[in-house]
Amino acid sequence: MQQTTLFDIELIRRYDKAGPRYTSYPTAVQFDSHFDESVYREYALNSNAAPLKPLSLYVHIPFCDTVCFYCACNKVVTKNRSLAVPYLAHLHQEIAMQAALFNRERPVTQLHWGGGTPTFLSHAQMRDLMQGIKNYFQLDDSGEYSIEIDPRETQSDTIAVLREIGFNRMSLGVQDFEPQVQKAVNRIQSEEQTFTVLEAARREGFKSISIDLIYGLPHQSADSFSKTLDKILTVKPERLSIFNYAHLPTLFKPQRRIEVADLPSPSEKLRILQNTINRLINAGYIYIGMDHFALPDDELAIAQRNGSLYRNFQGYSTHADCDLIGLGITSIGKVGDSYSQNLKTLDEYYAQIDSGQLPVFRGIALNADDKLRRAIITQLICHFSLDIPSIEQEYNIDFKQYFSEEWRDLETLQEDGLLIRGEQRIEILPAGRLLVRNICMTFDAYLRQNKEQRFSKVI
Ligand code: SF4
Repeated sequence: MQQTTLFDIELIRRYDKAGPRYTSYPTAVQFDSHFDESVYREYALNSNAAPLKPLSLYVHIPFCDTVCFYCACNKVVTKNRSLAVPYLAHLHQEIAMQAALFNRERPVTQLHWGGGTPTFLSHAQMRDLMQGIKNYFQLDDSGEYSIEIDPRETQSDTIAVLREIGFNRMSLGVQDFEPQVQKAVNRIQSEEQTFTVLEAARREGFKSISIDLIYGLPHQSADSFSKTLDKILTVKPERLSIFNYAHLPTLFKPQRRIEVADLPSPSEKLRILQNTINRLINAGYIYIGMDHFALPDDELAIAQRNGSLYRNFQGYSTHADCDLIGLGITSIGKVGDSYSQNLKTLDEYYAQIDSGQLPVFRGIALNADDKLRRAIITQLICHFSLDIPSIEQEYNIDFKQYFSEEWRDLETLQEDGLLIRGEQRIEILPAGRLLVRNICMTFDAYLRQNKEQRFSKVI
């Protein structure tokens, strides 16, 4: 696919409005406290019905040594490493409580440690945590076990330790190599630090290594970002995530330390994006969707080609049919036809676990309409197409009748060249792929009811 067809500046300008990232449908905005830990327990126990589905585990380590000013994650910034001790003690308890709900024969085929900064933990703590997980869950030998790495928080032997305890995938946070940008966002990280970790990971046999970059940061321009890309492309990571910085200082406190005057203009941001797509496509990367690119022989690109790509809270995934257990503060789980989220502060989390209860504080039980719309949004966002007869058959509906309003709205998107709306398929055209969120928004019943919800801009 040529980038010139992928990147249509006029369309992007016209459709550049706020929208969800659809790591779930319904999105977390719809979760509420009626879904509490007792409802979660029921869903968890019912999920053990045959045929047994595999499990996916997400573990949240919230601590960071320093704050990056662009950050919108849930984290605890501290230099006090001893704070990890009570957190890990409670996390071990939560693992045991969660494991008691699930059939021990269910294999774990996917595990992810995110944060915060998972490598804020000492090697001994990481070993101990992984052992704690293995004591209660069966980790499948062929599973995908990934961790988010901050190269500033690794020692010379950290990568070998991670491999030894079972990790085989990683993503590396980089964002931008330009010193002026790094200073403005308070994340000073040398190329040497980053590439030393990358080389160690390759030596240790890590697969599908991903590098995260952000565009739209202070002092960035298309030319300056190009220099970062030059350096990244010399090492050709299997995957690249290019995130859009959304400046929302009223929602995310650290962003107040970013000067608005230093941010690139909207048109410069678009130039950065255009340039980046151009360069990545020319370097042989495939556009997977949303912010993600992968080399053609990477598992994500292969999964997209053979129709098995899926999207969850960690982004795109090759493991579709798992129940996801969220562990640690703020983590989100997906069990059966439900989503649930853990408490967001350390104190609340500790108190709930100390009282013998799971720290779930909100969630949602999906109704029939949610499930149908989720299936449609997942197909569109992962495969850029929708097979209408298979949806009609699986959900026992007449598509055009059920979605009569949506069908009309799609006509405008078709006239604008984003998609083709056929009798059998909705096919997203190359120019619509960067705007796949907008297309999915057509099928979002909650957005249709309430157009005022707050999300970051699509591009
Ligand atoms: S971007 Fe990552 S390392 Fe930086 S403050 Fe946020 S969670 Fe921590």
